[in-house]
Amino acid sequence: MASVFNFNAGPAAMPRAVLEKAQIELMENAGTGMSVMEMSHRSKEFREIIDNAASGVRRLLRVPETHAILFLQGGASLQFAMVPMNLRRPGKSADYVDTGVWASKAIREAQITGRVNVAWSGQEDGYSRAPKPSELSLRSDAEYLHICSNETIGGVQWTGLPETEAPIVADMSSEILSRVIDVSRFGLIYAGTQKNLGPSGLAIVIIRKDLAERAPKDVPIILRYSTHIADGSLYNTPNTWGVYMVRLICDWTEAQGGVRTIQELNEKKAAALYAALDSSSFWLCPVEKESRSTMNVVWRLSSEALEDRFVTDAEKEGLFGLRGHRISGGIRASIYNAVPPEAVDTLVSFMKEFERRNG
Ligand SMILES: *Cc1c(COP(=O)(O)O)cnc(C)c1O
Repeated sequence: MASVFNFNAGPAAMPRAVLEKAQIELMENAGTGMSVMEMSHRSKEFREIIDNAASGVRRLLRVPETHAILFLQGGASLQFAMVPMNLRRPGKSADYVDTGVWASKAIREAQITGRVNVAWSGQEDGYSRAPKPSELSLRSDAEYLHICSNETIGGVQWTGLPETEAPIVADMSSEILSRVIDVSRFGLIYAGTQKNLGPSGLAIVIIRKDLAERAPKDVPIILRYSTHIADGSLYNTPNTWGVYMVRLICDWTEAQGGVRTIQELNEKKAAALYAALDSSSFWLCPVEKESRSTMNVVWRLSSEALEDRFVTDAEKEGLFGLRGHRISGGIRASIYNAVPPEAVDTLVSFMKEFERRNG
């Protein structure tokens, strides 16, 4: 067991077994006499690592052969810029749904290089839910529809997907590998790896190969998806350690029984926490029931002073990372794949006790 329960939003908890395996292999990787950090990214050994990382993701998410899997630097934030540069042709527009902080950041970046149609915004409702498909004002000439499928800061998660003619692009940074998805319904999926997939400094991109051919000629070579597809994510030196860690996370996820099993566990963890929040008016969850995230559970208490006390007292019990994002305040428990059910059980017991003392 870890020495504390870690509810950080990202970088976030890693499975203990993965860290132990990385520790064993840190000095010497599989009989090579050197650490993975010392290897050439063009060596046979590293190619095997990056191939295994990609095939692990492919198996776990059943990614069809129509889609390529890329490991890129710059985190999810670079994808906010790369997506419109590559997928929205000159003079054309793209549909974006504004569900919170991360979706808005993607919108701001897309507006710099071209036209954006905000097809729905939750801003006036304080970003308390995801839209129903029927509420979206989609444009028939949109090059793609961009969504953030799980808002890490606001705790808002999509359930269904709209039927669209334009390909759907999804920022899945904080929910990838947490539930079963039908990849064939997406034109592009991207995720910073530091939530459910590994360490920071790396993003995974799953892209329908034909969309990579759209990029206008003025997109720099390094920012084209087609470059990275052609070079198997080895156009320049990738974050080799990060890729290695993603491979270990994939192995671990498969050993847990795969994404479906993990999803069931995640739903149980989230249900236990939301049940505690709904059990009393002492806690206030601002997110509407149908849109509540299974990964990032957010709530408020009656005052900021009480929220401060909650976070401080929780740390004394070994429960870390519960302070809400600096933008939103409040409390947030990120309960990613690597956060064990015992962590949630311990948190729920602590909440009952805290309410008894402060209610
Ligand atoms: C964390 C996060 C990002 C930003 O990731 P970086 O790797 O820091 O660029 C973007 N979108 C979502 C949904 C996130 O959770």
